Amino acid sequence: MPDRVPVLAANWKMHKTIEETERFLAEFLPRAPGSGPEVIVCPPFPSLKAAVEHCAQSGVRVAAQNMHEEPEGAFTGEVSAPMLLEIGVDGVIVGHSERRQHFGESDEALARKVPAALRAGLEPILCVGENESQRDSDETEGILTRQIEADLADVPDDRLADVVIAYEPIWAIGTGRTASPDQAQEAIALIRARIESRSAEAAAAVRILYGGSVKPGNASELITQPDVDGALVGGASLDAGDFAAIVEAAA
Ligand code: PEP
Repeated sequence: MPDRVPVLAANWKMHKTIEETERFLAEFLPRAPGSGPEVIVCPPFPSLKAAVEHCAQSGVRVAAQNMHEEPEGAFTGEVSAPMLLEIGVDGVIVGHSERRQHFGESDEALARKVPAALRAGLEPILCVGENESQRDSDETEGILTRQIEADLADVPDDRLADVVIAYEPIWAIGTGRTASPDQAQEAIALIRARIESRSAEAAAAVRILYGGSVKPGNASELITQPDVDGALVGGASLDAGDFAAIVEAAA
């Protein structure tokens, strides 16, 4: 099995102005590891360029929280991959449950967005996960299978490992309720098995993260599960000290 480099990604959602981004990075970057895990910050669009400039010499990478699949066009309010690349952005979160829930992001759209990001040279971080009632009615496996199959349908097998996947059970996002290490491991192993049904090589290499109320106190037990390759962190990533502690737990 290849060594998978862990990924720790900070999803700031609609938080942090440019000034707040700069303040965060001034505190966080001196604590960021020079090597080891891949560390990514995902600020809102207006703060991306400042983040890219501040992270330039650090090894910390910058990703956006959404993109449109077309390179340009009459899509008011949207931002494209070439626009993100032009300002030095490295990756993009797609399919976050908040975008699926509040902005109608569908599996059909994701089937176009993920390959569009890859073709453009951005690292996609694809979020998947079940809600509470789906888990309670034992639908988790079916939901994850459907999302993985649909969202990655048009990604060639030899590019599957270039996608970072984040398993984010919706009932654990922003709720303070974390999946147990066993629940995270089980769901992530299942996702890896779906990738394996297309390519054993990709399944061994693809990084699959856990996201949902990760904090300095629980990061280590989640990240050390055999199939868990890091974390996508929301609330706790807003604090430079907390995010640094989570990164240190993985290093
Ligand atoms: C997220 O929004 O991706 C997330 C995991 O949020 P939180 O860590 O706050 O649950």
